[in-house]
Amino acid sequence: MSERAPRWYDAGLRFECSRCGNCCTGPPGAVWFSAAEGRAMATAMGMSEEAFHRRYARQIRGRWSLRETKTSRGMDCVFLTTDPEGKAGCRLYGARPAQCRTWPFWPENLESREMWDAVRAQTPCPGMGQGGLVTIDEILERLGETPGDSDL
Ligand code: SF4
Repeated sequence: MSERAPRWYDAGLRFECSRCGNCCTGPPGAVWFSAAEGRAMATAMGMSEEAFHRRYARQIRGRWSLRETKTSRGMDCVFLTTDPEGKAGCRLYGARPAQCRTWPFWPENLESREMWDAVRAQTPCPGMGQGGLVTIDEILERLGETPGDSDL
C-alpha cells in the first residue's frame, strides 16, 4: 500500500458553521451542480428533472447553477431559508450540491496555508478557521467530493 504525501493540513483545520447564511446570499454568484446532483435535487423536490431545471436552475456558460432571488440581503440562493431564530437553512439540505457540502475544503482553498489564510481573511464565512477541528480524513473525504471547479 502506497503512503500518501504529507499535506500542510495533516493536523486538521478548524471549521464550524454558525448558520449565518452568508455563503448563500450576497453578491450574485453561482451554485454549480452536476447532472447527478440535478437528478437528486429534482427527486428531493418531487419534480421531474426538466421541471426542476426550468424552475430552480439556470445555465451559465453551458453549466447548470441554482437560481438566486433578490432580497434585502442581496442575491439569495433559491433554496435558502431562515428559521424563527434567524438561523439559515437549506430547503434541499440532504441533496445539496458538493459545492455547498464541501465548503471551505475546496481544492483551491487547500493549495497552501497561505491560500487558506488569504481566503479566510476575505470570506464572509465566520466559520472558516473557527470551532471544532476537522480531521485530515474528513477533509480528504470532502476533497474527494468536490467537482474541482467550484470557483467558476
Ligand atoms: S457563511 Fe460559513 S458559517 Fe455562515 S452559513 Fe455559510 S458555511 Fe456556515
